Amino acid sequence: MLRTLLIALTGGWLISCSSPSTSNDNANETDHQMTELPLDVHSYARPNFARITHLHWIAEIDFTNKIINATARYDIDKAAAADEIILDTYGLNIESVVDEAGNELAFTIGEMDSHLGKALRIGLGGETHQIAVVYSTQPGAKALQWLDAEQTAGKELPFLFTQSQAILARTWIPIQDSPGIRFTYSAEVTVPNNMLALMSATNPTEKNESGTYSFEMKQPIPAYLMALSVGDIVFKPVGPRTGVYAEPSLVDTSAWEFGRMDEMLVAAEELYGPYAWERYDVIVLPPSFPFGGMENPRLTFATPTILAGDRSLTALIAHELAHSWSGNLVTNATWNDFWLNEGFTVYFEQRIMEAVRGRDYAEMLIALGQQDLRHTTDEMGTSKDSHLKLDLEGRDPDDGMSDIAYEKGNFLLKTIEAAVGREAFDNWLKNYFERHKFQVMDTETFVEEVNSELLTTEELRSEVRLDEWIYGPGLPDNCPEITSARFAAVDNQIEAFGAGSGADELATTDWTTHEWLRFIRGLPSELTETQLNDLDQAFGFTNSGNCEILAAWFQKTIPNNYATADARVESFLIEVGRRKFLTPTYVALVEADPSKEKARAIYAKARPNYHSVARGTMDELLDW
Ligand SMILES: [Zn+2]
Repeated sequence: MLRTLLIALTGGWLISCSSPSTSNDNANETDHQMTELPLDVHSYARPNFARITHLHWIAEIDFTNKIINATARYDIDKAAAADEIILDTYGLNIESVVDEAGNELAFTIGEMDSHLGKALRIGLGGETHQIAVVYSTQPGAKALQWLDAEQTAGKELPFLFTQSQAILARTWIPIQDSPGIRFTYSAEVTVPNNMLALMSATNPTEKNESGTYSFEMKQPIPAYLMALSVGDIVFKPVGPRTGVYAEPSLVDTSAWEFGRMDEMLVAAEELYGPYAWERYDVIVLPPSFPFGGMENPRLTFATPTILAGDRSLTALIAHELAHSWSGNLVTNATWNDFWLNEGFTVYFEQRIMEAVRGRDYAEMLIALGQQDLRHTTDEMGTSKDSHLKLDLEGRDPDDGMSDIAYEKGNFLLKTIEAAVGREAFDNWLKNYFERHKFQVMDTETFVEEVNSELLTTEELRSEVRLDEWIYGPGLPDNCPEITSARFAAVDNQIEAFGAGSGADELATTDWTTHEWLRFIRGLPSELTETQLNDLDQAFGFTNSGNCEILAAWFQKTIPNNYATADARVESFLIEVGRRKFLTPTYVALVEADPSKEKARAIYAKARPNYHSVARGTMDELLDW
């Protein structure tokens, strides 16, 4: 049961004949039982009155005008008293709305809110159980990134991909865009000749003559998991349940890089129960994709920056795969509970990596995460944004996507695991996924369940200090300290370098990306040109094809004015659109040159290549 229900019922619902009150607004008035859903301050929808249950989406993708023309037909469920349904929209041109009999339905479009967009209120007759919205998107729709042919690997055909999380689904589909509202969907998508369309659903593996593709998602999902990708895309199987989609020139490399996906899937199921989505495929997108990966069900969207050539960055695949349980199956009730999606997923990801690559390997991942987290909590100080439970009302929920949700969330779970023991924790977690599958979870329910099922004694509760972790700032001092034997060996080499050893004398044989990251991060912040040159000569950092290593290296070259790397910084920022790399690199440029002139000059060239979510962050950083 969700404690937020009472608040949900006071939200701005307009029933024509009565004002809202908790007594006559709740599901008692329905002719059948509707599950009660929480209030979400980032959606206009009022799902306890009327909600969508199935979407049939018919769309035509127009690359010439960079728009989608579509009809979104919904099955709806409603309370007896409901005489309207509210959908979220942002920048959509709504042409008409009809019911199942083809009768026009009256609708109004509300005031514009810069984060939320506009409410689309559709009047419902007593017998209306289906609505169809005919609409088109605008060329600048925030979820959509339209790439010209030159921005792809093949350079012959354009490309389109979506990024709906957190609240951008409403920029390409009029929808109830709240993580608590789940629906099944089907779709018919028409694209230009020679292109393949893919969605977060059952997918084709080959192009067809007609250019029209059908999709079905039988398991109910929230709107932020709606996804579409269109381009010159081919498929290559990896294992019996897994495969890779990519542009033709990248598909073999990608299939090799992700060669252990099936093994990861098996390891995940052994840990926390059956995989609910049948297939697990990955599409490798062009480099402007703003995130490392997006856990679109059945089809993870991934950045090509994890193609390191040595399978060293595939923990990202373990992360997106883990979301098939934490996030996609048990979903954060609102974006204020985002840590329940991400903290659980980081924990789960590291357990998959431990199963597949061994404990010493996983320890390196955990230690790097802890280093990131300490950096973030130092920066945030006592800010409420460093609480696990967030308050994002009136803000873009994208503001909550920090290391706090991911790493502080992960370390809380590790703290609980350390207190109750791994076996008890694993049993609990497996049961948690089973018990809450296809439902939402909020922080308060999590606390209640952990207290009653795991931290059952006063002693355990005071050992873990849940409230301090969740409702307090920074990193509590009972956070487990992570030691990694392999990193201890790296630290010795950092020391040797500091004591005057030449870079080529250091013992670096068989280092993975993680060891290199530890090494680069651990170098002194002040380095001379001679030292930087020595490192570069020995290890080729500036010309590395590994984006993680490059981005870490730039944190040393930019503050120390190492001009040799300048051209690489610029080409990297122009080519890659992954926000994780952009933000620290631009920050370093701004710190080195507070006039921002240098950073803005690069940004002017790079910005057209970025997705709107990356632009949003960089625009703010660079006063664009
Ligand atoms: Zn994630």
